[in-house]
Amino acid sequence: MKELALYAMEILKGRGVDYADIRITRYNYESFIVQDLSPKLVNVEETYGFGIRVLYDGAWGFASSSRVDKKEIEKIAERALDIAKSSSMARGDFRVKLASEPVHVDKYLTPIEIDPFSIPVEEKLNLLLKINETMLKVKEIVKAISRMQFRRREQIFASTEDSLIETIIYTSNASYTAFAVGNNDTQTRSFQDYPLNAGYEHIKKLGLIENAERIAEEARMKLYAEEPDEEVLDLVLDPAHLSLTIHESVGHPTELDRVLGYEANFAGRSFATPEKLGKFRYGSPLVNFIADNTLSGGLATTGYDDEGVECQKWYIVKEGILVGYSTTREVAPLIGEVRSRGSARADNFYSFPINRIPNLYLAPGNEKATPEELIQDVKRGIYIEGRGSYSIDQMRLNFQFGGDLFYRIENGKKTKMLKNVIYQSITPEFWNSLDGLTDERFWEPRGFLTCGKGEPIQSAQMTNGAPYARFRKIRTGRGRR
Ligand SMILES: [Zn+2]
Repeated sequence: MKELALYAMEILKGRGVDYADIRITRYNYESFIVQDLSPKLVNVEETYGFGIRVLYDGAWGFASSSRVDKKEIEKIAERALDIAKSSSMARGDFRVKLASEPVHVDKYLTPIEIDPFSIPVEEKLNLLLKINETMLKVKEIVKAISRMQFRRREQIFASTEDSLIETIIYTSNASYTAFAVGNNDTQTRSFQDYPLNAGYEHIKKLGLIENAERIAEEARMKLYAEEPDEEVLDLVLDPAHLSLTIHESVGHPTELDRVLGYEANFAGRSFATPEKLGKFRYGSPLVNFIADNTLSGGLATTGYDDEGVECQKWYIVKEGILVGYSTTREVAPLIGEVRSRGSARADNFYSFPINRIPNLYLAPGNEKATPEELIQDVKRGIYIEGRGSYSIDQMRLNFQFGGDLFYRIENGKKTKMLKNVIYQSITPEFWNSLDGLTDERFWEPRGFLTCGKGEPIQSAQMTNGAPYARFRKIRTGRGRR
């Protein structure tokens, strides 16, 4: 594999290219879904191939193949070069110039204790069956779905700048949902996705069986819960819930390609434009959003990104002020940055790397505080757990979020369960209303395996962690589930 990667670069060096790189990538996937007491999906899959990028006279060419041998490498290298030459003739005034990056010759492996692919499929299915069995014993639970996913990505990256990077990345995830019917209503409650770059030891630590009865009971309780009125209330949000709010209202708007208008598809633009950098108050002084692709277990913790840039840690928002973006080698120079933040990722060998959200998290508070202590200071509010539906506008400003579990807060205490709650706000107003955080003991690295972006659409994974946080005076109301 390594020799072929180096061979491809030898072919392209001395052909007048500005730059070229190759990724030879093998993915192994396992995906299981069990519905009630029978397996619904048992997918074991492997993809293997390579993609070559060529930058010629300021324009890109890209070609890929799933046949990995010398002859094919020659063919695809020539094709990528031809495409780059053609696009350079059509490029107009805009020239792609890449931010410089030191040469890296390195290896990176996700540290794991148990290789998830070494655990028999039967054992995984049995665990999922047992979860469903436990949930289905609870009254009014009519359906149970449980899921597990594992990925292993082995990749060789080589560039005409002489970088040579070998990586092996493992990702493990599990989740499940109980469906309840009764009292003229249907409700769900989930043990929500908790993916990490880790081995099967992560699955063992999740407490999947231990929580199954509680999750099912909560689904049932939602049938009998009250619906909220339209009201301006304080909110206390849990890390699983906040991961989505952060992803949509901070992660996507600070992807620099989107900010600059290169990525206008799928709720594409952003309000967080470069003239605001260093000045714009994104949130209250308690708000620190840290991008960290070196985060232990982080879904974007891969050692290097897909254009050979070393994973880094930096601030996106510091003490409430917008101070940074996620960038690639192509977009970083457009705002005068000398180095890429290493946020170029492709979802497979056949995809061109694009600007993706890094591991991006809300930092925990410096002062010791428990979730109960955040709630104690709320006279009238709602406590929300887990992710639900959402919508956000093109500029990533006006949004609406649901959730998975809701409780009324009255005079500093969690009281009655609610259902079908939504809240609405505007990104900077929302983060400026944050006035309380729990400390690091309650911080969780939640994240996403299927963040969609680009055309053709690509799927990426990243961690969006958070502590519990309190927000003042947010518009809440009744939503459809
Ligand atoms: Zn996304």
